[in-house]
Amino acid sequence: MELFHIGFLTVSLTDLLDVAIVSFVFYRLYVAMRGTVAAQIFVGFVLLIALFFVAQALNLKALGWLLRSVTDIWVVALIVLFQPELRRLLILFSRGRLMHYFVKLDVNESIDEVVGAAVELSRKRQGALMVIVRSTGLRSFVESGIQLQAQISRSLLISIFNPKSPLHDGAVIVKDRIIEAARCTLPLSAVTRLGEVPLGMRHRAGLGITEQADVVVVIVSEESGAISFAENALLERGLTGEELRRRLRSSLSSPTVRWSLKNIFSTVREEI
Ligand code: ATP
Ligand code: MG
Repeated sequence: MELFHIGFLTVSLTDLLDVAIVSFVFYRLYVAMRGTVAAQIFVGFVLLIALFFVAQALNLKALGWLLRSVTDIWVVALIVLFQPELRRLLILFSRGRLMHYFVKLDVNESIDEVVGAAVELSRKRQGALMVIVRSTGLRSFVESGIQLQAQISRSLLISIFNPKSPLHDGAVIVKDRIIEAARCTLPLSAVTRLGEVPLGMRHRAGLGITEQADVVVVIVSEESGAISFAENALLERGLTGEELRRRLRSSLSSPTVRWSLKNIFSTVREEI
């Protein structure tokens, strides 16, 4: 269906829809990558494509030929440049997002174990720091501790955080239904107080990791027994077991693809 003409161009409804979809895709990609090296490369790529269309419309054959050869190479260059990001993107789609819908039951089981352990540890005034991975892995942090790869259970968590246990110091990292490691060192948040309450190292470490990775964190205070929950650089203190369960349920069953995309494209790339 033709809508109108601009010079020699005939514009139909399908063309408008086409342009709208492509613009939307480019816009979303740009927003996801804004402020990163990837965004600069991306802008360059878009400019090149725009120039190519201008050359085509004005019938500049030689320039068109040159740009076509360059864009052919660009596809390969882009794949090479973004190889690590593309890999993580594929992993994200194959494992992260889709699996969330299928393994919801498993997640609920892990939540029960974490909540059970937190409540018991809080009653006994034993400190704990548990990181639950949502989408991206935390390899370097897992490697900073002692690898376990153990099936999650509340009794194992309680044993780990027993102050006499050699593994009680630092954080436990949980992914799906597996405790990947214990005694992990986490990055400290620059935030040092929550309202009037000063934050100690355990709470700052728990908050710090949520600033850098797509995780949720459960902290039990040794001093007060208070249970805290941290997510997206926000810490909530003094939760009951039931409140903690609700927070975990809503956070772990809703995948944050937007966050993951941002994370994938903003990782520091030493080679650029
Ligand atoms: P609590 O309320 O339990 O006392 P807190 O926030 O006041 O917690 P501290 O008393 O300083 O924190 O707790 C120290 C404990 O925090 C250490 O024994 C260690 O297990 C843990 N911790 C400190 N720094 C880190 C870190 N960078 N990564 C992981 N765990 C850490
Ligand atoms: Mg303390």
